[in-house]
Amino acid sequence: MKETPRSRVGLVMSFVELELSENLLRAVREEGYEIATPIQLQAIPPILAGSDVLGCAQTGTGKTAAFALPTLQRLVAGGQPPRQRGRAIRTLILAPTRELAAQIGESFRAYGRFTGLKHTVIFGGVGQMPQVRAIQHGVDVLVATPGRLLDLMNQGFVRLDKVEILILDEADQMLDMGFIHDLRRIVARVPRERQTLMFSATMPEEIRRLADQWLSNPVEVRVTPQATMADRIAQSVYFVEKKAKPQLLARYLREENVTRTLVFTRTKHGADKLVRALEEHGFRAAAIHGNKSQSARQQVLAQFKLPNPPVLVATDIAARGLDIDSVSHVVNYDLPLTPEIYVHRIGRTARAGAEGIAITLCDRDERSMLREIERLTRQRLPIAGGDASQGDHTHHESHQPRPHQVHTPAASESRRPRFGKRFAKPARSGSASAGGSASPSNRGSTGAAGTHGGFGSSAKKHRFRSYQR
Ligand code: AMP
Repeated sequence: MKETPRSRVGLVMSFVELELSENLLRAVREEGYEIATPIQLQAIPPILAGSDVLGCAQTGTGKTAAFALPTLQRLVAGGQPPRQRGRAIRTLILAPTRELAAQIGESFRAYGRFTGLKHTVIFGGVGQMPQVRAIQHGVDVLVATPGRLLDLMNQGFVRLDKVEILILDEADQMLDMGFIHDLRRIVARVPRERQTLMFSATMPEEIRRLADQWLSNPVEVRVTPQATMADRIAQSVYFVEKKAKPQLLARYLREENVTRTLVFTRTKHGADKLVRALEEHGFRAAAIHGNKSQSARQQVLAQFKLPNPPVLVATDIAARGLDIDSVSHVVNYDLPLTPEIYVHRIGRTARAGAEGIAITLCDRDERSMLREIERLTRQRLPIAGGDASQGDHTHHESHQPRPHQVHTPAASESRRPRFGKRFAKPARSGSASAGGSASPSNRGSTGAAGTHGGFGSSAKKHRFRSYQR
């Protein structure tokens, strides 16, 4: 981004005040950042001061810079070792997935470009020799997924005895993926005398216990509590029979103004199947999941970042932590296994201040998960459309029926023959989440959306209109 007087003022007001050194400020300017994000404002000072930090923040909040910038500054301040002693790994960053590790590596490259520090990234699924060579050349910062790191440690290629700063990113995801034993082995090989930073999108008990063991007197920082993080995302739910989902999605994609759509399925097989179904409907689509080779994944990601990208169908593990800007729509094709994952998923859109749209296709068997999601996010998902063929959809038995659902003007409008009008624009749900429950006006609009968004024959629509949650 070109530097304008205004951006200069922004920098003076934020990153400079954070006492970052000029070589880092220059890199930040070149990235086009104007003001520090809340997690950066909170985390950078204690990290610079040498404290351990326990951070609760999602990808998309700027957390990578929040730990990378002060880490780089501390490494530079600590001085480079004399050349003949060679470089030792002074910072180790552990991340759950290859994609996230690669992204963290990118961030270190960008923020550290004027520091003279070297970094490399290692992860599984690709040959180890180039990684071993990079480490043997000497790096200051190593970004790694736990499995490959342990492998290389066991083969004697990696020593961690000079690590000064240990960073665990997306700690909850690493536990979800079963890395706990690897993590314990790795942390045991890092000197006790160190600075430890742990970031996690959620703070379950297990993470707190690990933090108690691995961190010393940490400063706790937290941004966007889960209940409100979705404020900027227009969310809605379509009730639909399982077998009708591909058709509903195809119609949605055709009729909505989508530019970059990320669709979540629960399984790898489901992702492949959906790609085929979308292709049959005439869409370009690509899958990203754990069975794809690393190069195939990178290729798909690269395509997705281009203008006019294919629809990207992803499993949770493959997609979590991906830093893809400008995702216009997130589709929960299958509901996730836990409500927290829903929050992660929709966080792929509405990045860095942008607004986004997230829709959920919910079949009969998925309603209890929908309830759990609504409990966690403390908001009712507006109904944007649905398949009336499921009969009575009282999925919120304990909730009041939505007022004005049948007799709103929007209800009669929904009978307009043009199919394109059947999909209502999802109602913005920010006020509902901020307030902790849906306001009457919000419910009114959701009711309208529900009737507006009917899907099927007019007979079905009639039944749909009496749908209560
Ligand atoms: P992260 O949460 O680290 O994955 O960052 C999400 C996105 O925000 C990345 O694309 C960063 O480049 C971007 N970002 C980080 N810090 C800032 C900032 N202060 N201003 C604008 N964008 C930022």
